[in-house]
Amino acid sequence: MLRAARNALQVEYAIRDVVLPARELEKQGIEILKLNIGDPCAYDFDTPQHIKDAAIEAMRGTKNGYSPSEGILELREAIAAREKRRNNVDYAPDDITVTTGISESLSLLYGSVLEPGDEVLVAGPSYPPYTSLAKLHSAKPTPYNTKEAAGWQPDVDDIRRRITPRTRMITMINPNNPTGAVWGRRVVEAIGGLAAEYSKQLFLVSDEIYDDMTFDVKHNATASLVKDVPLVTFNGLSKVYLAPGWRLGWTMWRDHNRGLEEIRKAYMNQARLRICASTIAQHGAVAAMTGPQDHIPQVAQKLKRRRDLAHKRLNEMPGISCAKPEGAFYAFPKIKALEEPGAPWRNDKEFVLDLLKEAHVLTVHGSGFDSTFGANHFRIVILPPEETLTRAFDAIEKHLKRRLKPVPA
Ligand code: PLP
Repeated sequence: MLRAARNALQVEYAIRDVVLPARELEKQGIEILKLNIGDPCAYDFDTPQHIKDAAIEAMRGTKNGYSPSEGILELREAIAAREKRRNNVDYAPDDITVTTGISESLSLLYGSVLEPGDEVLVAGPSYPPYTSLAKLHSAKPTPYNTKEAAGWQPDVDDIRRRITPRTRMITMINPNNPTGAVWGRRVVEAIGGLAAEYSKQLFLVSDEIYDDMTFDVKHNATASLVKDVPLVTFNGLSKVYLAPGWRLGWTMWRDHNRGLEEIRKAYMNQARLRICASTIAQHGAVAAMTGPQDHIPQVAQKLKRRRDLAHKRLNEMPGISCAKPEGAFYAFPKIKALEEPGAPWRNDKEFVLDLLKEAHVLTVHGSGFDSTFGANHFRIVILPPEETLTRAFDAIEKHLKRRLKPVPA
């Protein structure tokens, strides 16, 4: 066998890793209730019509060529206008680079910054690419604690303790995947203050892809709270604008003191190598930014009802507790039973596979989001309609009752 790159062989992506055993069961004709993938279009959500129409129009017309590597000006202006409208933050169109999704934004950014042995602080638990892609670049992801008892808010003292001379970035995901936490204003300001102390060696990265998917609290953009700190913000069409398959996102640079200048140059060097993001999707994105935003509160309302159902049902189950998600579309329940002697599973992965095999519900093991801070948890997606969620919760509850039945004395 010819040799593959070691770093690439070690790449893990827990969310898709659990899909293979599920497919095996499906091949046997078993219906699986899938609560594993964060794609709203897999459930009863769809891209708003005016966004689709703009992309169709672009394709019907003369917009089928390459576009500039940084993205079409019209879209970068429209993104800047959204930032002004929503967050009262000023970006020039040149401070925005359009990508094929945050996945690419992150890949380009890590590729522009990381040298072997560099360190990246990542929320523990975290959306896996923040960790896996760092390893791909021979860098070290260092998870920092987010406190479950405080609704999964980051522990700023823990971030401070984990900064070393090799730390290059503090990454933040807010609203958070996998916990559903919306990080409070004070905590984000405190992270900003910390980053300011270290701004000669590191900068902040803020992933805000779920920004308008919140329930009882408002999300504050990091750029609106944190001043004078080099900051890179990611956003895109995949969640709030319900078009994950279009593969469109963007990177926004806030860099008053020009500390990121060299990194931006390295980023654009790579961006030119991949030519551009889909031109058609970019034209759709202009409509997403400038057109009606009515779907946003409707989606948030729908998700809130599903969140309430999930939170109630999970907390009624034996052996489980669940902090209340405030945003995004995930819940990250704790498998309390794993902390007790004689638990029927050795760890959260065994729990998730057992749930799949016996209850036919597909979730993702928490340790896939961080081996320490995610252990003994599992992630569910709260996107399905209430009837589907209810069926899934009934099946999980029945399974838990069976597994955790007290042994007769
Ligand atoms: N960032 C976070 C926090 C996510 O949860 C996801 C998808 O689940 C992404 C980014 C992926 O974004 P994109 O589709 O723009 O690559």
